[in-house]
Amino acid sequence: MAPIDPHDYTAAVHSGLKIDPTHGAIAPVLVTSTTYKQSAPGEHQGYDYSRADNPTREQLEGALATLEGATYGLCFASGLAAIHAVMGLFKPHDHIIVCDDVYGGTRRLFDQIWRPLGCTFEYLDLRDLTQLKHALHHTPTAAIWIETPTNPTLRIVDIAGCSQLAHKHKAMMIVDNTFATGLLQRPLDLGAHLVVHSSTKYLSGHTDIIGGAIMTSHEHLFERLKFLQLAAGAIPSPFDCYLLLRSIATLALRMERHSANAMQLAQFLDQHPQVAEVIFPGLPQHPQHQLACQQMRDFSGMVSFYLKPDLTDLKEFCAATELFILAESLGSTKSLLNHPATMTHASVAAEQRLALGITKDLIRLSVGIEYAQDLCDDLATAFASARLPHASQT
Ligand code: PLP
Repeated sequence: MAPIDPHDYTAAVHSGLKIDPTHGAIAPVLVTSTTYKQSAPGEHQGYDYSRADNPTREQLEGALATLEGATYGLCFASGLAAIHAVMGLFKPHDHIIVCDDVYGGTRRLFDQIWRPLGCTFEYLDLRDLTQLKHALHHTPTAAIWIETPTNPTLRIVDIAGCSQLAHKHKAMMIVDNTFATGLLQRPLDLGAHLVVHSSTKYLSGHTDIIGGAIMTSHEHLFERLKFLQLAAGAIPSPFDCYLLLRSIATLALRMERHSANAMQLAQFLDQHPQVAEVIFPGLPQHPQHQLACQQMRDFSGMVSFYLKPDLTDLKEFCAATELFILAESLGSTKSLLNHPATMTHASVAAEQRLALGITKDLIRLSVGIEYAQDLCDDLATAFASARLPHASQT
């Protein structure tokens, strides 16, 4: 497996760099103006109203496209706003096949907003492409929608395999690349038509921006999505675009460190007597480790694990970490700890949660960029203080 492409360290710094021709400023110029002076009616310098076009947003969109290997990028007010915009490409009766452990908010958007408008959704375990082949054979399908790695059980979906089937059946292939970013995984190179992101996560990295993005190299899709961005108006603020431009300069460094730290934490957890099972695509025992090696440059910073319930008080454990902050979201420089069953995935129906392996013993870590040994020590202390009294005899 190749590490991050060395050129991407340069791209991360320079894709968002545009020297301001007026003053020579090298920091992104934050243009807050909503409107622009016209020299004559309809004659302007490319900007008339900031919902349509804004120089700071445009700079960010170009940078994000570069980091995904795409021709075009479009930014939105949140990841879900980006996903909602993609759904605007479809019409009533369009059928969409979705990986069954898609982010809960995406599923809610599909089932509670787009299903009543006439789209149909079929949720499948896409680790197994025979299910997908069967479904595509039986039902005309407008799109296949996947995430990989998935949240929180870090399953890997074969992007190239799904894309081949999508092309064969004239379906659109869409990949939510939030967990990997374009630096660790390039779905467009593997045949996807569109990539979506919650830029709230790794792209931002600092837990201070809610944002979303869509990248594509297909001009007709870009044109339609650009229209949807303008017409529905879920754009990010120029200040958020400015912050995100700052963030992506360090994206390659952060992804390298997140991945290295996550590997060390996964190996630590794998040896810990209070842990029943660790899920991390970088561990050789992950059932899809080989596939992860094929389609990812590194494994990113998410690690999930099951506690041995008879050995550890879960609540106590979650409260006992000092460096790991008990909080939702992921992709931050700061390490975060999440109990999916009661936090991020609480809105998922209980039986569905169990079918996906989201039991009460499952913990998800978003490993930050701190010193890995400090993070291991933090978890070790929490394990010790949450150890149930009778467990010492085991
Ligand atoms: N996609 C994935 C994989 C996510 O994890 C999330 C949020 O957690 C979203 C999309 C939605 O993004 P946002 O919260 O920015 O709307």
